[in-house]
Amino acid sequence: MQEVLLLKCGEIVLKGLNRYKFEERLLRIIRERMKKIGQFDVWSMQSTVYVEPMGEQDMDAAFDAAKKIFGINAVARGAACEKDIEAIKRTAAEYVGDRLDNVRTFKVEAKRSDKRFPLTSPQIGVEVGGYLSDLHPHLKADMSDPQVTITVEVRDKSAYITLDKVRGAGGMPVGSNGRAMLLLSGGIDSPVAGYMMAKRGLEIAAVHFYSYPYTSKEARDKVLELANILTDYTGKITVLLVPFTEIQLAIARNCVEDYFTILMRRFMMRIAQRAAEMQHCGAMITGESLGQVASQTMEALGCTQAVCYMPVFRPAIGLDKEEIISIARKIGTFETSNLPFEDCCTVFTPRHPQTKPRLDKVEEQEKRLDVDALIERAVEGIEKVTLG
Ligand code: ATP
Ligand code: MG
Repeated sequence: MQEVLLLKCGEIVLKGLNRYKFEERLLRIIRERMKKIGQFDVWSMQSTVYVEPMGEQDMDAAFDAAKKIFGINAVARGAACEKDIEAIKRTAAEYVGDRLDNVRTFKVEAKRSDKRFPLTSPQIGVEVGGYLSDLHPHLKADMSDPQVTITVEVRDKSAYITLDKVRGAGGMPVGSNGRAMLLLSGGIDSPVAGYMMAKRGLEIAAVHFYSYPYTSKEARDKVLELANILTDYTGKITVLLVPFTEIQLAIARNCVEDYFTILMRRFMMRIAQRAAEMQHCGAMITGESLGQVASQTMEALGCTQAVCYMPVFRPAIGLDKEEIISIARKIGTFETSNLPFEDCCTVFTPRHPQTKPRLDKVEEQEKRLDVDALIERAVEGIEKVTLG
């Protein structure tokens, strides 16, 4: 029996004339992801992408990977067979196997998109349903609320019997809306922000600021691990690691304590923007959420925004911590984010941070520093790691 995956394309079908470009990109992404698992034949027809193993392949891994590809709305797993009603019945019985032993109601949903096939959709449903009922006499057909739905689709190349259809990752294919630089800390919020924007079709690069020896090697490994988890959804991520100690020490030595955090945030945004230019990104992404900490008030965000000319996407801005955590759990970053290593922000936290900083006061503090030289040296110290 030949097992296959049927992936139903999502939002890209709305894209009119650009549609073929989106489809091509999606197909390329699916091929890349499947290549990591084994050898698969991947092709598309009428908004469905077919993933067919070449020889014995790990279909569980392929199914899991497919569920993480943006641009796909539903993933069905099933068996392919010859377009012949007897073959369809036999394959359905074999594929469904003992899955019908512990249920009482079922339904067969048939769809004939190849109109040359001699039976109509309702006729196929009756034939296959009857055959399965004979094999499993305890079963009752239930058209409105069945425990199991078996789908039979007679398509161009083959007939397909599917049983498990689950929601796909949704969104748009990674890269179809360009590329952005994610400011990735070791916290809970920024990996979630990266995931959310990748879902909207952005390819992701990341920048991380570390303050060795105030932050540890483990803190750095943790960030790389977070980026690595994200690659299941985003594909390749290049992480730029920026030495930040000199800047933090310069701020701590020369500026008024209440402004430490906001000054640091402005340095981060400036350097992230340089990193974004280096990596051909058109926007930046942060995990900021309104009012969560002192540097995320409207006034503080205004002061950090003031040093950026690129748009800054903050997809978590309107989410509660609980909501962010539930996404982090779903995508598998929560446990790693929760590991207890110091982030560079927490090392130099002022006792009374300004919650309503004024831009002119912040700029006055910055005059005490050689901003350009500090940024230049940090940029020169950047180290690059590519994951995924
Ligand atoms: P997170 O959970 O993402 O760390 P947070 O709630 O701890 O966020 P902050 O520490 O104020 O908030 O950081 C706000 C945002 O700034 C983060 O979401 C992230 O995008 C970015 N950021 C903070 N620290 C770093 C860092 N060391 N390297 C890269 N980006 C950072
Ligand atoms: Mg943080």
